[in-house]
Amino acid sequence: MDSTFRRTPNIHLQDLIDGLTSGNRVFLSRAITLIESKRVDDKKEGAELIDRIISNTGKSLRIGITGVPGVGKSTFIEAFGKLLTDAGKKVAVLSIDPSSSRTKGSILGDKTRMDELSKDPNAFIRPSASGSSLGGVASSTREAMLLCEAAGFEIIIVETVGVGQSETVVRDMVDYFLLLMLAGGGDELQGIKRGIMEMADHIVINKADGANIKSAKKARDDYKNAVHLFPPNEADWIIPVGVCSSTEKSGIKDVWMEIDKYQTHTEKNGWFAENRQKQAIKWFHERIQARLEETFYSKPNIKIEIQKREELISSQKLSVRKAVDELFN
Ligand code: GDP
Repeated sequence: MDSTFRRTPNIHLQDLIDGLTSGNRVFLSRAITLIESKRVDDKKEGAELIDRIISNTGKSLRIGITGVPGVGKSTFIEAFGKLLTDAGKKVAVLSIDPSSSRTKGSILGDKTRMDELSKDPNAFIRPSASGSSLGGVASSTREAMLLCEAAGFEIIIVETVGVGQSETVVRDMVDYFLLLMLAGGGDELQGIKRGIMEMADHIVINKADGANIKSAKKARDDYKNAVHLFPPNEADWIIPVGVCSSTEKSGIKDVWMEIDKYQTHTEKNGWFAENRQKQAIKWFHERIQARLEETFYSKPNIKIEIQKREELISSQKLSVRKAVDELFN
């Protein structure tokens, strides 16, 4: 697929950086397309781009949002994002959806979502990068996040669907992780594992409106009790549990107040900075591993050589150790 960036081949990297750092959303979009590109020359330029803006990054608050499809993530982000842009903040919304492919359409990118927010001059919305591996998609999103920061966005929201490993991946790139839930679904029904609840910095029961208010409050109290039994987390933060209605826009401000409290708390106790450092180092090591794998599997004839040895290993004519040695030699 021809990228937006490629359609304007004459743009120089410095012009792209200038446009991006002046906060121009078109340039920001192009820069993200560049770092997502799988073309060899784009990759080189993308690396150069990220390297040149890196000292301009890190100044935003990074918020992850997860919850099963239908819980109301996009409706919530629309209401939450508007609250922030109305307060004069610049908000970027990115998403991670490993199933996404621009041609097939994706869970997160397909619908007409966040209508109002997408028209807001203080907001920037970008659907998930496409790609076959979650690690690759995650890495692109991280770099997109850095580009948004260089473009002056103060709040970055990274949204993910509540499936697979994507929560862990988002958890590893944000300062604050918000889990949206529904009342009355039951944990199993909602596909939410205890592990995900433990990763959260905040649990909010959405759709607390109309006939649903009572059950939402009941669910809130139940989750509060459950959260109480969790071991203390590294942030030394007791996970708040609240209710909200994204359609009626109630309880949205309370979410922001908790996030604000968290930031103050963790900046004071050092966790905020420590967490970021740990995340960056972990990312670094993940990318080394990914690069090693890429290098290995891109060797000529490697697939055939592997296949040959699979047969020998299956029929006990070759040991795994010897087969691996042979491939590396
Ligand atoms: P997502 O798949 O998690 O992004 O969920 P959506 O934001 O697309 O919402 C799924 C459906 O739930 C839509 O029909 C929304 O209008 C509805 N919805 C979202 N938030 C609320 C809410 O707070 N209250 C009610 N009653 N409906 C909501």
